[in-house]
Amino acid sequence: MIEFKQVSKQYTRDTFALRDITLTVNKGDLIFLAGPSGAGKSTLLKMIAAMERPTSGTLTVSGQDIGKLKNASLPYLRRNLGLIFQEQRLLLDRSVLANVMLPLLVTGATKAEAEKRSRAALDRVGLSEKIAAKPESLSGGEQQRVAIARAIVNRPQIILADEPTANLDRDNANYVLSALQSFHAAGVTCLISTHDEQFLQSANHVVCLERGQIVDRWHKAEASATP
Ligand code: ADP
Ligand code: ADP
Repeated sequence: MIEFKQVSKQYTRDTFALRDITLTVNKGDLIFLAGPSGAGKSTLLKMIAAMERPTSGTLTVSGQDIGKLKNASLPYLRRNLGLIFQEQRLLLDRSVLANVMLPLLVTGATKAEAEKRSRAALDRVGLSEKIAAKPESLSGGEQQRVAIARAIVNRPQIILADEPTANLDRDNANYVLSALQSFHAAGVTCLISTHDEQFLQSANHVVCLERGQIVDRWHKAEASATP
């Protein structure tokens, strides 16, 4: 579903954010990207959404070559992606419901349909009670759950989350992570960057980056859900 073949990303003459990355992400995978700040985690996620392009190597996402993708095709690529990035702020002057409806309205859903699906998405992240609130009145954990609802409301095949639990306390971080895991359980492919040692210890599939290179990875067989 996502294939990096010897991909490098150089921002400036002396900044190589990624060097020679070869990585395959299969449909339905849940992969954690680990590594210190500056390791290249955000860059890797941004390249999948074509927010950054490879300097060399090939990156294919759902059959599309990111290096060759025309800007006009970006909306089609991104329609299949649920993005949870720091850069994608909520609109503070609009209600929670309006924030989540936005991606649906942009892609041509009717208002009634957008509202119905947005309510269902907010229900999935436990925010049914807060749909009329403005994001600024919510806690950090609740705001992050709104961002998740907004990212998944289009039913994307792939979710990309960049440090989704940064700045959250343990309870909120656990909630955000279990919300993401529930989409993985429903078949969505998820890539999540994190610093969180506790999550990494319980993770089945981890790719560790350091200075732009994959320095370690482990993949345990997933425990079966039903006995
Ligand atoms: P991480 O997400 O692991 O913290 P990043 O992908 O943000 O790592 O950054 C990897 C490296 O690329 C760092 O050295 C960072 O300073 C550099 N970098 C990231 N974005 C840019 C940019 N837009 N321009 C120049 N350098 C960048
Ligand atoms: P509904 O079928 O009424 O939308 P669901 O409980 O199945 O209700 O889903 C609630 C919301 O969760 C959906 O609107 C969608 O935003 C999201 N969702 C559910 N399943 C998936 C999935 N497989 N992929 C992506 N998003 C999903």
